[in-house]
Amino acid sequence: MKHLRQTDIDEFHDLLETEKAQLEEDLAAHGRVQNESGDWQGNSSGLMGEEADPNDAADQIEELVTNVPLVEELEAKHHDVEDAIEKIDRGTYGLCEECDGPIPLARIKVNPSARTCLEHAE
Ligand SMILES: [Zn+2]
Repeated sequence: MKHLRQTDIDEFHDLLETEKAQLEEDLAAHGRVQNESGDWQGNSSGLMGEEADPNDAADQIEELVTNVPLVEELEAKHHDVEDAIEKIDRGTYGLCEECDGPIPLARIKVNPSARTCLEHAE
């Protein structure tokens, strides 16, 4: 990662830590840890509760349906951010996962958790 200065890396590390904390806050608000692997699941608050009002249940199912894709997106992003922080620790931050080539600084500035160079972007 010779194309990145240590000051840049420090800055991205801060950004990533901030983003990670924000994502965890969002995940806590919209989901809950469902299993031991730590996957977050969409939260249907009170669906299993004692109140059996059909209207409430409908609302809660709607909430579940809207929350699951959101939680999946948050979880995927959280995973990217965690991996990026790990790469900083390992000294491989800023390198494309496909070709080990440098990820352009401009791209990292837009997305500090980018995994690939422009050529290998999805
Ligand atoms: Zn690449």
